[in-house]
Amino acid sequence: MANKKYVYHFEESYGLGKELLGGKGAGLAEMTHVGIAIPGGFTVSTEACNLYYQNKKSLPDYVVEEVYTAIKALEKKTGKNFGGDKNPLLVSVRSGARASMPGMMDTILNLGLNDISVEALASETGNRRFAMDCYRRFILMYTNVVRGYPRNEMDKMLDDMKEKKGVHLDTELDAADLEKLVKQYKEFYKKVIGEDFPSDAKLQLISAITAVFRSWDNERANIYRKMHHIPYEWGTAVNVQLMVFGNKGDTSGTGVAFSRSPSTGERQIFAEYLPNAQGEDVVAGTRTPLHIDWLEENFPVVFKQFQDTVHLMEKHYRDMQDMEFTVEEGKLYFLQTRNGKRTAAAALKIAIDLIDEGLITEEEAILRIDPSALDSLLHLSFDPKALAKLKEIVSGLPASPGAATGKLAFTAKEADERVAKGEKVILVRAETSPEDISGMIAAEGILTMRGGMTSHAAVVARGMGKTCIVGASAAVIDEEKHELRVGGKTYGRNDVISIDGTTGKVYAGAIDLVEPTMTADFERVMKLSDKFRRLRVRTNADTPHDAQIARDFGAEGIGLTRTEHMFFDKERIFHMRKMILSNTLEARVEALNAILPFQEQDFYEIYLAMLGMNVTVRLLDPPLHEFLPTEEEKIVELAKALHMSVEAVKERISFLHEFNPMMGHRGCRLAVSYPEIAVMQATAIINAALRVQKDTGKQIHPEIMIPLILDVKELRYVKQVVVDTAEKLIAKSGQKLDYHVGTMIEIPRATLLADEIAQEAAFFSFGTNDLTQMTYGFSRDDATKFIPDYFEKKIFEQDPFQTIDVKGVGKLVETAVKLGRAANKDLHIGICGEHGGDPNSITFFDKVGLDYVSCSPFRVPVARLAAAQAAIMHKKK
Ligand code: PEP
Ligand code: MG
Repeated sequence: MANKKYVYHFEESYGLGKELLGGKGAGLAEMTHVGIAIPGGFTVSTEACNLYYQNKKSLPDYVVEEVYTAIKALEKKTGKNFGGDKNPLLVSVRSGARASMPGMMDTILNLGLNDISVEALASETGNRRFAMDCYRRFILMYTNVVRGYPRNEMDKMLDDMKEKKGVHLDTELDAADLEKLVKQYKEFYKKVIGEDFPSDAKLQLISAITAVFRSWDNERANIYRKMHHIPYEWGTAVNVQLMVFGNKGDTSGTGVAFSRSPSTGERQIFAEYLPNAQGEDVVAGTRTPLHIDWLEENFPVVFKQFQDTVHLMEKHYRDMQDMEFTVEEGKLYFLQTRNGKRTAAAALKIAIDLIDEGLITEEEAILRIDPSALDSLLHLSFDPKALAKLKEIVSGLPASPGAATGKLAFTAKEADERVAKGEKVILVRAETSPEDISGMIAAEGILTMRGGMTSHAAVVARGMGKTCIVGASAAVIDEEKHELRVGGKTYGRNDVISIDGTTGKVYAGAIDLVEPTMTADFERVMKLSDKFRRLRVRTNADTPHDAQIARDFGAEGIGLTRTEHMFFDKERIFHMRKMILSNTLEARVEALNAILPFQEQDFYEIYLAMLGMNVTVRLLDPPLHEFLPTEEEKIVELAKALHMSVEAVKERISFLHEFNPMMGHRGCRLAVSYPEIAVMQATAIINAALRVQKDTGKQIHPEIMIPLILDVKELRYVKQVVVDTAEKLIAKSGQKLDYHVGTMIEIPRATLLADEIAQEAAFFSFGTNDLTQMTYGFSRDDATKFIPDYFEKKIFEQDPFQTIDVKGVGKLVETAVKLGRAANKDLHIGICGEHGGDPNSITFFDKVGLDYVSCSPFRVPVARLAAAQAAIMHKKK
């Protein structure tokens, strides 16, 4: 057995696989193989773990020897001394299983410290406090992890010391305090373990490796494995890796780098560097890092190596990389690389550039862009003409693009409260922290004084697609006095500023905003999406203006025109109310006839905006009382205008009141009770189409949609009313008109009887808003009050009104598609509920074979991309 290998240096293990090396070990081997300078080290294999268990929980001598040989080689390679008095070699000892098991097993850091090496570390870093802090942490971890002694008593020693000194934070303790603590910890170790704390680094190492193997069998790891079906036999590997320190003086430092701009996607390394610092100083945003140019100017050789490595990594991983690196006394190490988070604009540009650079295929590029992020691309910006005349008051780093104007709010709470009262605010903070999140959401934009592109504010704002500038260090943001002071001027809570997250410039006063225009990258991604997608994308639009926006975004027709919105116009609402309050057919027809010309003109203009494309118009849907006034004053006014008594109006209003209007007299039931409404609407739809055909010479294909159908007989009845009306008008016009009558499917009963209904319908359009409401028995209007409880109690993971419930509502949709198509092979099927613009739901709609999705105009690009992704994914399977 002794000639079998159990320990692998990162240099020799590439390609040996996760089974042997664990995920982390395999990743380190891959980086090493690519030629990236990572802190050196080795992996003790999963086989060694299994051997440990077979060998009654102890490492056989030949494995111990292999570890010693490996650490010797590491000393040689690094020129450092393990446990020695000069240039001490410190290592981390970490678990790394085949499947990631975050936090389940143990880790030991700063191993190799003892009374001698800690002194070397102190003098070499010039930071005794740091060295003592590393040492006390190491003793604590060792006692706890390796010797299995609970840490609470040692934690208490730390707390006692802070209390004695009257401080709150660990960081407020100085080197002498920590040295005292080291002494106390060691005495404690001796007391509870019965021997001195081991100063032999080799012994420390073997004990630590053994402890990590042992942690494979700890209670939480066993629970996690069971939950995730990870076999016990897999075992874990252990990675022993050199610790590097960026705080060893002026020739050391630490930084973060993106291989391309995470903000714009520009093909240029974006990096920040902090000399003489540790990684957490950068991430915490407590010191504002320098531009990487500083490294180039001061350490050109290191910079060149840095630059080459960044390019190498990007090429290898074929994506923009987000990396952490450390320079220890002039030697560069990369600690981590992963695919970088980016803004939507950057995502598009990077995807397109990577295709052009031949690194990825078009399909891969499409799959890499998050469709929801496209929303943020449709951002506002400042009017360039207005901007040209202005000079910024200060500038910072352009952390998240877009433009925002608002009054200054100095705390997250203040932002929340003022926004709730209808104000628009910019949240201005020295720096942000996770508690600020709701204020960040509420604010129009965020401005901070400190922090770099990877600070909390920057990362969070970018993720939200919120305009953000960070590190505007020339400004003083005084949160106590509620003042922003810059350039000799003071701005308070009622002053307005404008921030440009694309340039990082801050302006005093409000600036006009302009709607976004689409970039060439955007257009290209959209074109590519169109190349791959199967689903058509229509829009829900009720006005010619919305229809035009949607068309500009690439909508291929209208999937839903909700006609009810058209009745709220000042001139029309009176006739509508008159119609509703009328007791006789004649009076209703008279009122409807007054509305007809308006309605016809609406459709005329919508057809024109969508010329050449299909337009689906839905007959009146909401319960009638929604159109009636509720305030006394308005009721009196209405009574007067209608020559009715106030009592009579009130009586009629109370007659129309419904206890559960969502399930009441609405949808096609209105047409069943009052067919004259359907007659008027069909007349407007058909006449408008005939007029457009006549005026433009182009064919119109109106699709008349009947809502809330639950039975074929009901559909047949309303359809007959529509068809009779249409046929008469067409015959009279002498023209030909290709129109279709179809139905919404939004009641569970209709999905189950879809085969019967399909015989009378040219098309189905799933109204998944109502279908979700009725399948769940949750009122659409009230569910927001209790759905959060369902999230909290982990009953729901998603809001079914936002993402289709595939299991339940989806099953009904699938059933209806199958039944409907079997009964009517020409049946055209779409969806026009809110889910039509939701990427996850679109994946489902593609899978069940719908013909199109219809969504609000601004969601059209999202839907085009999501449909392409769905098609690519479904083809792959
Ligand atoms: C639906 O129910 O999904 C739908 C599109 O109709 P509305 O939202 O207008 O009820
Ligand atoms: Mg509906």
